[in-house]
Amino acid sequence: MNSHPAQSGTSSQPAEAITILGSTGSVGQSTLDVISRNPGRYRVAALTANRNAQHLAEQCARFDAQLAVVADPGRENELYRALKELDCRAAVMSGEAGLAEAAGLPGVDTVMASIVGAAGLKPTLRAAETGKKILLANKESLVIAGEVFTRVVRRNGAKILPVDSEHNAIFQALPGGFEEGLEYVGVEKIILTASGGPFLDKPSCELALVTPAQACKHPNWDMGKKISVDSATLMNKGLEVIEARWLFDARPDQIEVLVHPQSIVHSMVAYRDGSVLAQLGTPDMRTPIAHALAWPQRIEAGVKRLNLAQLGDLSFREPDFERFPCLGLAFEAMRAGGNAPVVLNAANEIAVEAFLDERIGFDRISTLVDRVMQNVEVCAIKMIDDVMEQDRRARAVANEIIKEIL
Ligand code: NDP
Repeated sequence: MNSHPAQSGTSSQPAEAITILGSTGSVGQSTLDVISRNPGRYRVAALTANRNAQHLAEQCARFDAQLAVVADPGRENELYRALKELDCRAAVMSGEAGLAEAAGLPGVDTVMASIVGAAGLKPTLRAAETGKKILLANKESLVIAGEVFTRVVRRNGAKILPVDSEHNAIFQALPGGFEEGLEYVGVEKIILTASGGPFLDKPSCELALVTPAQACKHPNWDMGKKISVDSATLMNKGLEVIEARWLFDARPDQIEVLVHPQSIVHSMVAYRDGSVLAQLGTPDMRTPIAHALAWPQRIEAGVKRLNLAQLGDLSFREPDFERFPCLGLAFEAMRAGGNAPVVLNAANEIAVEAFLDERIGFDRISTLVDRVMQNVEVCAIKMIDDVMEQDRRARAVANEIIKEIL
């Protein structure tokens, strides 16, 4: 970040108050970067982290936040001390109550939901309950609780603006909106592009031996560790398929995945009249973040401009479901509905953590997810408590099965 953020509004418009859930992560930091490039337009109200108290304190001091929250209560004192050292007067909270307070802070219009994993669900839901404009990066909220979550959004007059680059691209390729339904605006298909990750062309027999460092080194995107591994297994694309189903109220058979190794076309919408609308850009999360922040206006994002002549060729191919079984498992979970996406996501979170800790091989991630899905019977999800219960159950089953496949 290189420019100093202004916290007061411009003379013509008051600054828009924004809270960032997960501000110390990759998306959170990029959001603060975009904010700092647009002085006077935004005011940072609350920032949250899991355990990274020092980094959080520095962000709070720099952006003059009024509330700092660490999810881990054991880090509250460290946060308090770090803020004091920096002469920052932000209030300090921790745990679930702190996250809920940050997400629902009165006087705040906009919440960037960028906590990673299922842990993001409750705070994001709180933002929906309090009628916020939610800039949604935490795809897991929609994956595991799509029906309940979208119901809460509608009931409370909240709004979701997609930040995930593919969903943001689809949103941009729906210029007529989709409030009346995809059918009404003539959408035939939603086509999610996938880079294919770092192992797109690696022979299957070598996948067992890849290291966490190799899996986290994405060819085009700079992201947090969990989503980087998900990109390498194509589970990320699978989660995005389910996310798209809820975000755009799409039928499962309307969603397709197309591998596009250059990550320039971020996704496409195919219409009844034969038109295909795509959104293009350099692979930099600051573009979709800036788009969601300023929509329906456009603001400076600090990204490198796209030079198609320099790029030369853009290529596309079908995904390889055999080499990347996680993608097929996600389609299966979407079609099954009920608790299946919760089970898929929970098993995947356990598997990715075990892979990052070098307890299981890369090829075992899909094995574990598959086994857990087979071992937890499908049931309906009616409310958030059902989601939390199924999430707990699937994690317990995953932790048992993992012992067998070490
Ligand atoms: P990171 O791992 O980089 O950051 C995660 C953030 O969440 C950090 O602030 C972290 O705090 C916080 N956090 C982690 N665990 C918890 C918890 N249990 N409770 C509360 N806060 C927690 O993730 P990313 O920024 O990569 O991803 C965030 C979300 O955005 C994910 O859902 C991902 O799928 C999605 N996304 C990310 C993209 C990217 O380019 N990175 C692109 C599109 C979507 P701490 O620093 O203390 O650990």
